[in-house]
Amino acid sequence: MTMRRALFVLLACGALASLSGTALAQATPPSLTGSSYRPGVDVLDYDVHLELPDSGLLLRGDVTVTARRAPSLATLRLDLIDSLTVRSVEVDGWRVTATHAANVVDVPLAGARGDTVQVRVVYDGPVHDGLVVRKDARGRWTWFGDNWPDRARQWLPTVDHPSDKATVSWTVRAPAGRTVVANGALLGAKAVGEGRTETRWREGRPIPPSLMVIAAGPLVRYDLGETACRNGDRTQCVQQSVYVLPENASWLPGAFQSAGPILALFQDLVGPFPYEKLAHLQSNTRFGGMENASNIFYDGKLFPARKVRDGVIAHETAHQWFGDAVTEREWAHLWLSEGFANYFAALWAQHAHGDTAFQRVMAEMRAKVLADPVVASRPVIDTAQTDYLALLDANSYEKGAWVLYMLHRELGDRAFFGGLRSYYAKYRDSTALSDDLRRELERASGRSLEQFFDQWLRRPGVAEPAIGWAFDASTGSVALLVQQQSPRGPYAFPLTVVVTDADNVTHRLSVTVPAEARATLPLSGHFDRKPKSLSFDPDSLLLARITRL
Ligand SMILES: [Zn+2]
Repeated sequence: MTMRRALFVLLACGALASLSGTALAQATPPSLTGSSYRPGVDVLDYDVHLELPDSGLLLRGDVTVTARRAPSLATLRLDLIDSLTVRSVEVDGWRVTATHAANVVDVPLAGARGDTVQVRVVYDGPVHDGLVVRKDARGRWTWFGDNWPDRARQWLPTVDHPSDKATVSWTVRAPAGRTVVANGALLGAKAVGEGRTETRWREGRPIPPSLMVIAAGPLVRYDLGETACRNGDRTQCVQQSVYVLPENASWLPGAFQSAGPILALFQDLVGPFPYEKLAHLQSNTRFGGMENASNIFYDGKLFPARKVRDGVIAHETAHQWFGDAVTEREWAHLWLSEGFANYFAALWAQHAHGDTAFQRVMAEMRAKVLADPVVASRPVIDTAQTDYLALLDANSYEKGAWVLYMLHRELGDRAFFGGLRSYYAKYRDSTALSDDLRRELERASGRSLEQFFDQWLRRPGVAEPAIGWAFDASTGSVALLVQQQSPRGPYAFPLTVVVTDADNVTHRLSVTVPAEARATLPLSGHFDRKPKSLSFDPDSLLLARITRL
């Protein structure tokens, strides 16, 4: 997602209490792996039926959860906020007595047979978050899902954690005149009774609950057509569209004319677009943009101001591969989502606007990393942080993007994108951790990246080398002395050195600085006289604060 800076501070202050229940302690069989959040459970599908009244906040839901479970699992625990009232619960068609307290529904499975169960939860009540229900500026009710990070439970009974992805079907009854858009493909829309419509969507790829959303409002659709057709093959195109309030339609396509080329670029770099379509919506998300799977929501205020830029479209579109299709299994690895989205938005800037634009974007991010107190005090992979909204910081976004930039430079196009393509192919529709990415990049490049990942992702701060140099007149050689005395440990990195010799001729050289507290590194080349000066990392290609010895 992208942040709405001014508003974000306020929202972060009112951060959601952690509602996660205590994980059940059942043993996990080998076939049910991957979730530390709810061991022994793997949700396969949510079949969601919703009634949206024309009078606002009250929601009626009827959700069938299909889940695999470990044989020993006696209770299926779903997250659902207490202010909603559970009317009935069934397991495989049989009514059961479930408990609903502390924002979880505990469903007894004693009567169920088999390793797959269907749990149906019928509920209703006012919704205050997660599904954002609001009148627009002209007094029309609108509904927009906004679940990140763990607000699906505010309106949907789910295993509300990114580690458990599932397919989802939506059947939404809404007042006539509201356009309903949800994840996946449109299955149909019809009138049902007086002044009501029923719209059905189906997302056939597993996605995390944080990305399962609907939009319902007086939205009009602008068709961007079949975009990013690969090799001119019409079966390989991605259908894209923009949904806005009618008063904003005259501006379109506006910046969305870049939506096709953005998607085409990322397909070329990474692999096929993962979903059935891609819709871009004016919405009530609290974020500047939110990368819901196949259904990107943008801050509604950007539209009347005509302030949607191609940068935010590129960021959210990149998330469809990174974050949505390949989802970080644990919150601490959020950089696998935000760092990628930021870096790919920079690659789009380079593709569309040239190297200068790319360098400006990267320089802005670097300046932020070097100045940011969170970067200085916490690692990117921040397992100690339990306020997930606080993870939306310069570590996940800017430093994450720079980690990818440095990897790209060190490995080169072929190994870098080769590694990303195999990472995407292997973990698409699944989840991954940082070491999964590391292994794919190691395979593609043939080199160990343990030290790289450790120094840039698991330590706070940046490299802080002190560098001096000496000239040996007897051999005509120059040697660097590099000291790295930080208690957090030394870094290994490639260093560009520009030598200005006695005749004012510049020589561009490179050395590899080892992860050692003190290293003496001879430079290549012969100098008749003592050089006038040396400069280090002249293009600012490192996350480093370099001092002189
Ligand atoms: Zn993002």
